[in-house]
Parts: sequence; structure tokens; C-alpha cells
Amino acid sequence: MSEIRYVCEGKCRRMITIESYKQGKKTCSTDNCDMYGKELTLKEYCPRCNNTFDEGEDHICL
Ligand SMILES: [Zn+2]
Ligand SMILES: [Zn+2]
Repeated sequence: MSEIRYVCEGKCRRMITIESYKQGKKTCSTDNCDMYGKELTLKEYCPRCNNTFDEGEDHICL
């Protein structure tokens, strides 16, 4: 089963749960990240392999 996460696509790769996102953490807050202040991207997260992938993408656990 996959879950929804919001991730920074900059170098920090910060990952935020949907609960935190709803509480207002909608942008990257890592000072030295190249995407600092930019909107996070909705991704699906697979807890089994600890990977994120695009929404709707076929995901195969390795
Ligand atoms: Zn970032
Ligand atoms: Zn997986």
C-alpha cells in the first residue's frame, strides 16, 4: 500500500506527511536547499522500499 507524501525536488529531498502539509508546511524550509521556499510536490510513498514515485505511476518493489 502506498501513502501520499509531499516532497522537495531540490537537493534536500525533504519529505512531509499530508498532516504536516495541511498544517501549512507547503514549501521547502531547508535553508541551503536550491528549492528553498518552493512548493513541495505531491508524490506517492512506498513504506516497504522507502521510495517515492509519481502519482499513478506503476510501482514495483524491488
Ligand atoms: Zn528542499
Ligand atoms: Zn516499493
